Amino acid sequence: MKLLIATRNAHKLAEIREMLPGVELVGTDAFPNVPDPEETGLTFEANARIKAEAWRDATGLPALADDSGLEVDALGGEPGVRSARYAGTHGDTAANNAKLLRELAGVPPERRTARFVCVLALAVPGQPTRVLRGECRGTILPEGRDAGHGFGYDPLFVPEGYDQSFGELPDAVKAALSHRARAFAAARRDWALA
Ligand code: IMP
Repeated sequence: MKLLIATRNAHKLAEIREMLPGVELVGTDAFPNVPDPEETGLTFEANARIKAEAWRDATGLPALADDSGLEVDALGGEPGVRSARYAGTHGDTAANNAKLLRELAGVPPERRTARFVCVLALAVPGQPTRVLRGECRGTILPEGRDAGHGFGYDPLFVPEGYDQSFGELPDAVKAALSHRARAFAAARRDWALA
């Protein structure tokens, strides 16, 4: 089965390739004329569904979309679905991370709890769309720590049970316990993606 991965994020695509060994994946770069759908949903579930169904409809292929982000408890779940554009400009990681640290200034370590969330939607022609969620709990550091790994909020996030951030931990560790890893483990099992 050919499966279209509905993301233009090269980091995510690389992570997804690792998590779906044996599946023939097609990237969105194979369809340069297909416009990206607008992510107008108010939840990760809604946005994942919008992306998967738009790419299925545009290509006729089964399409898998991932919508993900960071929910910080002390900020009422922000940045949430706005994670990629928290500071205003889509994908401005430095500005997003700086804003998160500003919003959490003065919040003590025990109240800096957060979770990365990954929602997957699988849209297959002629079938109802399926959706599932993976989460990874942790805390937000007072300043970023990075060893050249990861992307986005990784330098700020320490997963539960570890002392190093996702920006410092080896890729293999993140690949084993991240929100995306958990969502894909469930997808391989529940959706028989091998
Ligand atoms: P999406 O591409 O609309 O799903 O936006 C996801 C955004 O959430 C990214 O741009 C990052 O800011 C953040 N994010 C999602 N997953 C991760 C991760 O594994 N590490 C760091 N940041 C992430």
